[in-house]
Amino acid sequence: MQPFTYFISDLHLAAERPDITQCLFNFLQTQAIQAEALYVLGDLFEAWIGDDDNSEFNNSIKSAFKNLAEQGIPIYFIHGNRDFLIRNKFAQQAGMTLLPEQCVVNLYGTPTLIMHGDELCTLDVAYQKFRRKARGWWWPRLVLSLPLSIRRKIAENGRKTSKKNHAGLTMEIMDVNSADVVEAMEAHQVTRLVHGHTHRPAIHDLTVNGQPMQRIVLGDWYDQGSILKVSQDKLELLTQQF
Ligand code: MN
Repeated sequence: MQPFTYFISDLHLAAERPDITQCLFNFLQTQAIQAEALYVLGDLFEAWIGDDDNSEFNNSIKSAFKNLAEQGIPIYFIHGNRDFLIRNKFAQQAGMTLLPEQCVVNLYGTPTLIMHGDELCTLDVAYQKFRRKARGWWWPRLVLSLPLSIRRKIAENGRKTSKKNHAGLTMEIMDVNSADVVEAMEAHQVTRLVHGHTHRPAIHDLTVNGQPMQRIVLGDWYDQGSILKVSQDKLELLTQQF
């Protein structure tokens, strides 16, 4: 078997969806264990309110990843728009390495730009404004300085409101802006991009200035698990059934 690397994103893990969590555990124990590396491209959790939230649920996820890391599989994490408050404490406990929000990795000879992808949805001006604040220095500090019980309440209320008006999904439904895709790929001088966030799994072949380029979009884990498997001469967008 050729060496290969796995990518996953948008699992949106939550205690209310044990089927998704179980699917992840199966994936980690039986498939990821055979990979050279595992990249998690954001929105691993439906919500993350701070590394000090040591709920039984969070601990079970951390142990599952840690167990994989201890068996010698490097795990890398890029923040999503729902778990951007993940910090080094979580990463250490989960055996992960935190990467910057945009990162170029050499995948068997092909430099590949990886990111969560929410920064490409520039048509959503209000969200981009929030994103700048949320990824800045004072906002996360302020939020993380609140007592855990208050943060939990804020997250619960947010979930209730988003359930009521379905606003929670609006952002994910909005697609990437193609001009920004090209700009990001050119800025990083790559011909391949992998991202998640939009929940529209696909392999897009594009041509920019006569040059073939590829944009691979990971899907979410609401109905099934979306997994990207990359080896020297194969790139497969797979699904794992719950
Ligand atoms: Mn997202």
